[in-house]
Amino acid sequence: MTVIRGATTIAQDTKEEIQKAVAELLEQIVTFNRLKRDEIMSVVFSSTTDIHAYYPAKAAREAGFECCSLFSAMEPEIDGGLPLCIRVMLFIERNLQAHPVYLRGAKILRKDIAQKINVAIDGPAGSGKSTIAKRLANDYRILYLDTGAMYRACALKALRGNVDLEDEEAIGACMRDLDLNIEYQDGAQRTLLGGEDVSEAIREPNVSMAASTVSKHPVVRLRMAEKQREIAGRMSCVLDGRDIGTFVLPAADFKFFLTASAEVRAKRRYDELTAKGHAVDYEALKKEIIKRDEQDSTREIAPLKQADDAVLIDTSNMTIEEVLKEIKKKMQESI
Ligand code: C5P
Repeated sequence: MTVIRGATTIAQDTKEEIQKAVAELLEQIVTFNRLKRDEIMSVVFSSTTDIHAYYPAKAAREAGFECCSLFSAMEPEIDGGLPLCIRVMLFIERNLQAHPVYLRGAKILRKDIAQKINVAIDGPAGSGKSTIAKRLANDYRILYLDTGAMYRACALKALRGNVDLEDEEAIGACMRDLDLNIEYQDGAQRTLLGGEDVSEAIREPNVSMAASTVSKHPVVRLRMAEKQREIAGRMSCVLDGRDIGTFVLPAADFKFFLTASAEVRAKRRYDELTAKGHAVDYEALKKEIIKRDEQDSTREIAPLKQADDAVLIDTSNMTIEEVLKEIKKKMQESI
């Protein structure tokens, strides 16, 4: 038998908050421990004395945990204890390596054992990777790492220094004093180049193609991949890119490859850029996207490629919500 522990916190003592927090906690325990719901024998909750609005056990039943016995209890008040906290213990029939799940404010309780999860989302430009990766990371309350931003920052440095992007040696020299940092402000990734926040500058249309060109040089790729591995090794994150599932993290817990027709991808980029006030030509954008994909797919080192064990999703005719739902479903099914 295995016992899996977890905990979460709520912002306020309301029925809706409790229902949401319990459903989220159980879904993540099931997903990250690769459980089948019918192998759960019982689920025991305890909540702090400031939680009255609803029974966590009832919320669990409503979240679809019907075939096991459920129980809730209230903990005694502890001085200095974490407020508005729900703890849980799941009893599973078989023996497995238990991954505890601590969410929201409860992460602070067990930083040492919090389960680390890496989700790789690869695909060509405009396939919806970054939107989906951001949403998924937000829903699971883990980090979103936009690896494209790192290559874009390298390209920006080279462009500013008037370096020939094709010249590997010159790029190598330019990267020697690269000072690139990724930081998070209010959950959003900020890219810092030499201390300057270049998060907006790297989105300029000319940087896209330049990023594709500099990213084919091993001197750039190996360094960025190392940085990405280092971040992913330290914390749970959703990484989007071209080679995460094949090269950066071949052992990622979950892998997805998003694609869409060139027309749809060009239209998405067109809408994105025009919304930002850029005057862009759809046909030119489509050509550029196709050229960039071609360059990304044919480079020698770590090309854009679907990993053998990645789930392929064609997002051409899907809404963001549909893609997100499909990804979460696949994560559950891969269990
Ligand atoms: O995803 P994004 O469009 O921001 O990426 C810009 C470029 O950076 C891509 O066209 C690709 O050449 C490169 N890139 C890469 N590997 C990644 C992410 C991006 O080669 N993991």
